[in-house]
Amino acid sequence: MTDMPLSNLGAIDAAHHLHPFSDMKKLNAAGTRIIQRGEGVHIFDNHGRKYLDGFAGLWCVNVGYGRKEIAEAAYRQMQELPYYNTFFGTTTAPATLLAEKIASHTGDKLNRVFFTNSGSEANDTWFRMARVYWKALGKPTKTQVIARKNAYHGSTVAGASLGGMKLMHEQGNLPIEGISHINQPYWYAEGGDLSPADFGLKVARELEEKIDELGEDNVAAFVAEPIQGAGGVIIPPDTYWPEIARICRERNILLVCDEVICGFGRLGSWFGHQHYGVEPDLAPIAKGLSSGYLPIGGVLVSDRVAEVMVEELGGFYHGFTYSGHPVCAAAALENLRIIEEEGLVERVRDDIGPYFAQAWKSLEDHEVVGEAESVGLIGGLQLAADKSTRRRYSSPDDVGTLVRNHCLDNGLVMRATDDRMLASPALIIARSEVDEMVDTLRKGLDHLRDTVR
Ligand code: PLP
Repeated sequence: MTDMPLSNLGAIDAAHHLHPFSDMKKLNAAGTRIIQRGEGVHIFDNHGRKYLDGFAGLWCVNVGYGRKEIAEAAYRQMQELPYYNTFFGTTTAPATLLAEKIASHTGDKLNRVFFTNSGSEANDTWFRMARVYWKALGKPTKTQVIARKNAYHGSTVAGASLGGMKLMHEQGNLPIEGISHINQPYWYAEGGDLSPADFGLKVARELEEKIDELGEDNVAAFVAEPIQGAGGVIIPPDTYWPEIARICRERNILLVCDEVICGFGRLGSWFGHQHYGVEPDLAPIAKGLSSGYLPIGGVLVSDRVAEVMVEELGGFYHGFTYSGHPVCAAAALENLRIIEEEGLVERVRDDIGPYFAQAWKSLEDHEVVGEAESVGLIGGLQLAADKSTRRRYSSPDDVGTLVRNHCLDNGLVMRATDDRMLASPALIIARSEVDEMVDTLRKGLDHLRDTVR
């Protein structure tokens, strides 16, 4: 794309391009950043400025930028068969082989995949599937879904409704009917005097209370991210997930783990639920499936649900023109081959994950840091006005933005959700690059300490 007229791209962008999740007035005034190239964990803008991408794009470029093998796999497939669908009794080799490859990493029970183009569509898909499942079993009243406050499950109507983002709900008269939200396991802000372990149990048991309130016969499923990502990398206390799994099992509701961020190695396991030792019935995936090289997502479907879909249903009236798109599937297959051959999941679990954990944790000695927690290569850092009392800043959004912008000015892409700094680098990040990330973030924290009282 270097032959494109980049000099006036900013003006063209302001005139014609509406951006997701952006204040367009501010964006147009400041001018958009134009990212031109990527290599490893680095991206380069149109002025040739280099940034360490501490966020792997949007939590997705797991194998890093510049993998020619993925580009070549897509090119080969595009020449051979650029498109065919998976509707009405057909498939293509990449779609089928990708389903098999994914299933080889899911454990015993999640043996099937329904393909989508994105994580949002994957959430819409399981949402319909869960209702269809219960109806096929003669329980048509089991339609309600319980989700969590501050969760993110995408931007489609069902995805945004399942999510617990206030601003998204306010803008679109959401959530739609049949979805309710319980509290998140955010001990730092909401745990009060309870220990993290007790708090984990308490918020997990809100699920049971909600089931009682709605009536077990009316509840189809509970959905949660293994670690809540966009909500601020909220890492649950260890007591949380086993209790959630117990409740879903005993109360006969489907457990849905949204693996869109946590899947494909980020937590040092192929899927986030494996890290927490629980077995979902359904699991939306996307992002790391292709490391973002091409859009593709899906839903992992357990045998329990699949058997009903296959034996009882006579057809799930649902699908996307590009479900299992052969070029996206070929790119995803190559991406998974790289993850396997380079042992990236094991690298996160045994090597770079523990290294990152130590470096990240070292930031807890900073005056403005309340807590710095991580699992694998996902980290959340809590900014605190007074760490001894867990007092937060009065305008959380501003302090996060201040630190994030300081990092950006110093060549590091970070993300902030209110007063939490989030990290999610590519799984190939080197130790020296982890050090650089943490050093630059520390300078951002100094800047906060010196600027906001
Ligand atoms: N679920 C989770 C946990 C996510 O983090 C995201 C995106 O960030 C989505 C779903 C939506 O995925 P997509 O943006 O591919 O639609």
